[in-house]
Amino acid sequence: MPSAENTSFADEVRLSFVASLYQQRGTLFAGMIAHVVTAMAVYMRIDDPFYLYAALTLFVVWLVRNLDMMAFDRLQKSDLKLADTLHWEKRYVTGSFITCSILGTMCGHALVVAQDPFAELVTVSVTLASMISVVGRNFGSRLNVDMIILAACLPITVGLMIARDPYMSLMAVLLLPLFLTTRSMANGVRDFLFNSVTAERKTAEIAEKFDTALNNMSHGLFMLDGDGRIEVANRKAREFFSIDKNTDLTGRALKAALRLGTRNGVIAKENFGQINQHLDSLVSGRDDRALVRFDKSSWLEFSARYRGEKGVVLIFEDVSERIQAEKRILHMARFDNLTSLPNRSWFAEVVSLKMANAKPNQQMALAVLDIDDFKHVNDSMGHVNGDKLLNAIANRLQSLSRQKYVVSRFGGDEFVLFIPDVKDIEDLKATMDYVIDTLRGTYIIDGHKLFISLSGGVVMSPVAGVQIEDMHIQADLALYEAKRRDKNRWTLFEESMDKRYTERQGMKAALREAIRTQSMDLFYQPMFNPQGTRIVGAEALSRWIHPELGPVSPAVYIPLAEEMGIISELTRCVIGRAVQDAANWPGNLQVSVNLSAHDLNDRSIVSVIADALDRANLAPGRLQLEITESGLINDLKTAREILTELRSMGMSIAIDDFGTGYSSLSYLDMLPLNKVKIDRSFVRDLTKDPKKLKLLRGVVNLARELGLEVVVEGVETEDQLVMISDNNCADIIQGYIFGIPMPHGSFIELANKLSSNPRKLTVVGQSSHTHRPGN
Ligand code: C2E
Ligand code: CA
Ligand code: CA
Repeated sequence: MPSAENTSFADEVRLSFVASLYQQRGTLFAGMIAHVVTAMAVYMRIDDPFYLYAALTLFVVWLVRNLDMMAFDRLQKSDLKLADTLHWEKRYVTGSFITCSILGTMCGHALVVAQDPFAELVTVSVTLASMISVVGRNFGSRLNVDMIILAACLPITVGLMIARDPYMSLMAVLLLPLFLTTRSMANGVRDFLFNSVTAERKTAEIAEKFDTALNNMSHGLFMLDGDGRIEVANRKAREFFSIDKNTDLTGRALKAALRLGTRNGVIAKENFGQINQHLDSLVSGRDDRALVRFDKSSWLEFSARYRGEKGVVLIFEDVSERIQAEKRILHMARFDNLTSLPNRSWFAEVVSLKMANAKPNQQMALAVLDIDDFKHVNDSMGHVNGDKLLNAIANRLQSLSRQKYVVSRFGGDEFVLFIPDVKDIEDLKATMDYVIDTLRGTYIIDGHKLFISLSGGVVMSPVAGVQIEDMHIQADLALYEAKRRDKNRWTLFEESMDKRYTERQGMKAALREAIRTQSMDLFYQPMFNPQGTRIVGAEALSRWIHPELGPVSPAVYIPLAEEMGIISELTRCVIGRAVQDAANWPGNLQVSVNLSAHDLNDRSIVSVIADALDRANLAPGRLQLEITESGLINDLKTAREILTELRSMGMSIAIDDFGTGYSSLSYLDMLPLNKVKIDRSFVRDLTKDPKKLKLLRGVVNLARELGLEVVVEGVETEDQLVMISDNNCADIIQGYIFGIPMPHGSFIELANKLSSNPRKLTVVGQSSHTHRPGN
């Protein structure tokens, strides 16, 4: 057994021993009375004044010790250091020692000096009894025990020995085991007490550590007994449930904590039932983990550990941040960044879920919506405002389609709407009209009022056996049709659109091939002086004969090539050929080539043209470039720079189809032009409608004011020609009346004939191998 005095907290134990000594005032008083009475009794019996003095001394010693006790009472015990404890212990032990020494001396005196049997009997028995009781109280220090035993017994033993009586000496020897027993008893009590105090202290220490650990856990913890009642709830658990530390949870059901949490506002009332169910299944062992939603933004994750019969431990933590982060990531994966509408993949998922839940004969519809002229908004107001517009439209769409429809932005300005339940075509019409009407209208973006219209394509189908991807393609076709016909409306998909689509795809492939292999023809349409006596040049017009469909109008394939992004290849091919052909023309005839808007976005056109002229060795002045005005809008600045450079090289620039676009007048001023080609729509009803002539004259005057030459296109009849000539409306005439577009060979023939023999007002070029546009 380890020595009790070596333990770390022996000092504290010692203080409590010392304190207990100082509290035994009654015992001390009773002892003093017994001792004084003993001494007085002996004094009176044998009349030895030694015992009178002894009685007095014992009383004085008691008095001093009593005062000492009062002084100890007044001390602040918690301030006591080990040294102080030892000091006060020493003072007490000194008192005991003096008392025992007086008693011992009384015995010695009785045995050696007085030699009276009464004195011997009384003093020895009282001293031995006192010694045992004093040692019993002073077991805390081994040294003190020894000292007290010594103080009491030495005089008795010495006295017995001095008496020189063999019986007395035997007594002295027989007393020895009593002393030893007393001593070992004291030591035994001390060790026992120390060990039990130590054990208690250790338990308390462990309990305290456990408590500290429990209350400093980042997790909440409830320990429940076999009946599901709370045995332990740590601080964090109280925090999570907002239960203060004064509320005793011990012995209460978990539901009570839940109720408190609800009352204190950390648990939303409507979640109570569900949370209770979750916790029940944890406590009963059906689940060992549960994610529990306390309120809108707070989530706790519980896990259960079973203790068999003893119950269960629930550990839980706040996972709100993790859940929020997961939600954010999920949102990013599912929703469009710009508009927060479902993105393509999430839309597909939601739609397929709706389709799976639908009745087989249920009708549904898919609509594709597209903002009319969105590109124009983007170009004129910038992408930031374009984004704002998309957002505003998405908001209207969202508010309108809440619950009922599934909406999505598929990128760009394309919105998709899935209508899961459509009664009939009338119902669909009403829905679509409502959707388009709600979305169209005025939007205020960056302080500007914008009127926005949308076009839509819709397809309706029963749920059974349909693929959403197919529906999307069909809705796209319907949208294409809507845009083609007239913007700001919606069109229902029809089977014929599918056919047209397939044809278009086929045509695109064939066109790509024709341009790649340069298998397209080039026709020339002559341009004449107004009298029709002289050719001044010719416009190069491409011709395409589709292997199966025959001749295709440029009005069809030119927009197609533009849409496919291959128009520039066609332009290069035409320029190369036209410049080469023109090099063999008689006189200084000009060749005119059409440029597409795409060509004017890319500066490389300048070197392409320069190279072509170089190769053909044709003077730049013999090449004219025609620009269709509506095609310029995209990037006016670049177009202007390109044209300025080309013009400075010597080419002439004509604005084509003048009068049909919407910013003609500003272009006249902004672009480096030489000629204006007035669109044939000005000529069409010239002879029937007097307003037409006024219009034509106005346009012609304007052009001439700006120093531009005027080409009038589309002159077909004698009457038109006369009217134009009489009003001096043209510098150059291009029209069927003088010549239709013709193969190169025919054009050369015509040009040669006319340069040697100019003739008057004859329609030329009507040979069998030319063909009119549009057939
Ligand atoms: P455009 O540049 O205005 O070409 C003149 C068009 O008017 C030609 O049609 C021509 O055949 C037609 N035309 C000429 N005189 C008359 C007439 O008296 N009456 C009528 N009704 N029409 C007449 P085409 O060849 O069908 O070309 C249509 C358009 O296709 C052209 O209009 C031009 O913008 C475009 N185009 C044709 N070839 C090319 C090309 O190689 N490159 C580019 N970028 N565009 C081309
Ligand atoms: Ca033209
Ligand atoms: Ca034209």
